[in-house]
Amino acid sequence: MIELTCPSCGTAVSSNAPNARIAIERLPQEGDYALCLHCGEISIFSEERANLRRTSEAEELELEQDKEIRSYRNAWRAGALKIR
Ligand SMILES: [Zn+2]
Repeated sequence: MIELTCPSCGTAVSSNAPNARIAIERLPQEGDYALCLHCGEISIFSEERANLRRTSEAEELELEQDKEIRSYRNAWRAGALKIR
């Protein structure tokens, strides 16, 4: 089982938690991005921490240029990805 925590809002995410909001299909790898469905922030998986970490300023600037990431963020903001 993988236990991940959003570094921005503290929401726990795991593959088999009763309130899991995502299905983890493979083990996360260094540098994988995650969009928190609770707060909408992007975080990055750190193998060293075995958990998610906040993005650096440089990474944040990079993410803002990424079309796919931008579309996910826009969808989240529009409520399209919110799970009730
Ligand atoms: Zn969050």
